Amino acid sequence: MTDYATLLFEETTKASCMRAKVGCILLDADGKVLSKGYNIGKCSGNNCPAYLDGKNSCHTIHAEQVAVARCHDLTKAKIIMVTKIPCEKCRKLITDLGLFTIIIGD
Ligand SMILES: [Zn+2]
Ligand SMILES: [Zn+2]
Repeated sequence: MTDYATLLFEETTKASCMRAKVGCILLDADGKVLSKGYNIGKCSGNNCPAYLDGKNSCHTIHAEQVAVARCHDLTKAKIIMVTKIPCEKCRKLITDLGLFTIIIGD
């Protein structure tokens, strides 16, 4: 069986935010991993608001958005696993895609 927690942890170690290292994976209905993501881009460092609501979150591209962008066939994506409660923008994206959300570690 796939160790999702380990996969997620590996993603968080690559994240560029100073305060909110987030990992995310997209799965199909059978639990197969379709894509992975972590938050990338420019974080405002020690002044980073890190999270959580849409107005006040890290300026990086969030892990959820990266995982979605890297997924080759979004029609197969059914489940999103993420290490933090998604921000407002990511929640909208997840709702739009009709994904079931599983939070691990927050
Ligand atoms: Zn940040
Ligand atoms: Zn987000």
